[in-house]
Amino acid sequence: MNEPVLVVGAGPVGLTMALALKHRGVEVRIVDKAAARTDKSKALVLWPRTLEMLDMQGCVQPFVNAGTKAVGARILAQKNVLVHIRLDTVRGAYPYALMIPQSDTERLLEEQLALIGVHVERRVELVSFVDNGDDITAVLRHADGHDETVTSPYLAGCDGAHSTTRHTLAAQFEGDTLPSGWMLADVELDGEISQDELTICWTPDGVLLFVPIKGTRFRVIADVGLTPAVDASPLTLEEVQTLLDLRGPSGLRAHDPVWMSRFRINERKVRDYRQGRVFLCGDAAHVHSPAGGQGMNTGMQDAFNLAWKLAMVWHGQASPALLDSYSPERSAIGDQVLRNAGRLTKVAILRNPILQKIRNLAVGVLGRVPKVRQRMVDQLAEMDLHYRNSSLTVTPQGAARHPAPGERAPDVPLAAGSGGASRLHDVLATGKFAALSVAAAAVNVPDALQSIATAAGAGADQYYEAGYVYLIRPDAYVAMSTKSDNAAAIISALERLAAGA
Ligand SMILES: Cc1cc2nc3c(=O)[nH]c(=O)nc-3n(C[C@H](O)[C@H](O)[C@H](O)COP(=O)(O)OP(=O)(O)OC[C@H]3O[C@@H](n4cnc5c(N)ncnc54)[C@H](O)[C@@H]3O)c2cc1C
Repeated sequence: MNEPVLVVGAGPVGLTMALALKHRGVEVRIVDKAAARTDKSKALVLWPRTLEMLDMQGCVQPFVNAGTKAVGARILAQKNVLVHIRLDTVRGAYPYALMIPQSDTERLLEEQLALIGVHVERRVELVSFVDNGDDITAVLRHADGHDETVTSPYLAGCDGAHSTTRHTLAAQFEGDTLPSGWMLADVELDGEISQDELTICWTPDGVLLFVPIKGTRFRVIADVGLTPAVDASPLTLEEVQTLLDLRGPSGLRAHDPVWMSRFRINERKVRDYRQGRVFLCGDAAHVHSPAGGQGMNTGMQDAFNLAWKLAMVWHGQASPALLDSYSPERSAIGDQVLRNAGRLTKVAILRNPILQKIRNLAVGVLGRVPKVRQRMVDQLAEMDLHYRNSSLTVTPQGAARHPAPGERAPDVPLAAGSGGASRLHDVLATGKFAALSVAAAAVNVPDALQSIATAAGAGADQYYEAGYVYLIRPDAYVAMSTKSDNAAAIISALERLAAGA
């Protein structure tokens, strides 16, 4: 297979997809119908799990340098703190939310892509495609109006909420538009408000959210009650100030807006993220409430999930059956994100005073329980995502409990002789599985499997159980684990993957 994979759309998800594929030696072509990148700040946060994934593409530092770190979040009701969570309890290398406008995220992704020789082809629109079974024939329309017909082994549709790819597949975008109206304003704020934490005010009139961007610049988001349709009139600074005065901490003054908008929330998702040789990723597959700030992050993780599988198949190292796991794995995550974001939104916009009282009481009590707070942190940080029920996850009797099969595989320092890598995630960055022995003899990976797996060894560690061997996927999830005297089971699992059994 040597034709490039066609990536349609150069938003954050398409750029991530192209980057992760090329990083693994796959030829890609990435096209976008727009003349330029977005200049809008849209998604403002990269969560710890996404940062970890960028680290595994070897490019997290420029993002960290360009962003600012938010270290916590508070929910206030009538000036009382109901919950205060701290992100420094995240068990990983990036214990914070990185605040960075989407326009910068896209710029940095595109720069990283250019460094490895891939350039976005702009003003090139996918207009149609046919899946021939053995490959895809796609028609691309160029800026001068001429149509180009291309053949590609796979098409990754990362073309956003109004996806041409999804429409061409006739895939239903099931769900609803919520009846409540919202406003968003990126403004400068004078007054007392935390610059390194998210502040959420639950008030009798609705919710008001402050997201720090940089210094005194904030995103202010508020619900404005039930509206039959989006109010088409432009949002004014006066309206924003009125909401601040009504719902916010006292003494805040908004000025110098850079972006103000009204919006409604869509909660929609496709059932299948794949049809034949065509994949849907990011907003093309799922859109939901911005509560929790998970949309772009979830899309980027769709890309990380698919890229290593496509790469192994493209290189002929694994059976195409490996690709069957993409849709079930990511669709389950999509369902979970939709559910959580929907719940957060509904709870935040309650208007009934009795229900508000019950909510505030319950959240105030739960917010004092450390375990509950940690669960909230892990959910926001996306550290709790798992593939326990995936067909790729094997749970033999006697598997280790920490981390369990399907769960995230934290980074650990490696012993000498682990394929030249000093940390587990460096092994995974090569696009291979790691057969990780923890305080146990190294696994002997046969020559025939060396192209997809590397043996690695670690000493006893807080995250892993001593005396076990773990098979870790290239996207840092545990595929299986077993007692070290049964390491042959790990080799059998790899052989099945390569053969597609
Ligand atoms: C106000 C707002 C706030 C948000 N806040 C957050 C947040 O805090 N956290 C978070 O994670 N997410 C957030 N999101 C969501 C986030 O912006 C989206 O999830 C993200 O942009 C999706 O990326 P994408 O690459 O899938 O799609 P898009 O960004 O929509 O990119 C799709 C690209 O495909 C191109 N395209 C479309 N059709 C074609 C075609 N036929 N041929 C070629 N190219 C095509 C488009 O030009 C576009 O460049 C927010 C969104 C909004 C609007």
